[in-house]
Amino acid sequence: MLNNEVIVVAIDGPSASGKSTVAHLVADRLGFNYVDSGSFYRGITWKALREGLDTADQEQVIALINRMDMQCICRERVVTFTIDGEEPGDQIRSQPVQEHVSDIAAVSEVRTFLVGMLRDTARFGHLAMEGRDIGTVVFPDSMYKYYLDADPEERARRRFNELTAESGYEDVNAVLDSLTRRDRKDTTRKAAPLQIALGAEVIDSTSMTAEDVAEHIIARLKSAGLPA
Ligand code: C5P
Repeated sequence: MLNNEVIVVAIDGPSASGKSTVAHLVADRLGFNYVDSGSFYRGITWKALREGLDTADQEQVIALINRMDMQCICRERVVTFTIDGEEPGDQIRSQPVQEHVSDIAAVSEVRTFLVGMLRDTARFGHLAMEGRDIGTVVFPDSMYKYYLDADPEERARRRFNELTAESGYEDVNAVLDSLTRRDRKDTTRKAAPLQIALGAEVIDSTSMTAEDVAEHIIARLKSAGLPA
């Protein structure tokens, strides 16, 4: 339990490890709010690209977060956001956003800004939140931490299957290259690199369905006394 008895299930892991589907299923079963923290990093990237900024130029990125107005909203138990009154929707999944999001996520001012915003989503009630640093930085006191992993080839296959034709990726190898590049940046950056949180249970989902993983987590939560 955290502040005011808000329960947070923290699910971290590399790209396409199944976090989103699993966190969504867990949130649905428990009646918790679902938060995709990566979508917040993608949202800022979308805004930066739309304004024609150089995402590798940290000063431009910091100036952007200082001038834009980002607000959280909770709709049908999904927490999302607006930036300057707009919701980016599927545009946050486009190839340009995909290729630049790790630059934005490496800026420590962006992380401080989003960590505050993500913590504040606890005001909507209990949460299942997925990302890279939920168990390590955003909610380190959570008693329910999971780290999902899967072989890179399997993750690339999963990601390729969920992409639309507009995404811009030609084949599964292009997706694998992109995932590998992003994993490298996410695990080696100075600010809050992806790592297994203290006390997290590691789940290798290579040969499991998202449903299996969600069932496993819910069984654990029940045995830990959570009313699931
Ligand atoms: O989870 P998703 O692939 O949408 O995340 C996009 C990017 O956002 C990641 O590659 C990572 O650079 C960044 N991210 C992060 N911390 C989080 C969630 C996402 O740095 N908690």
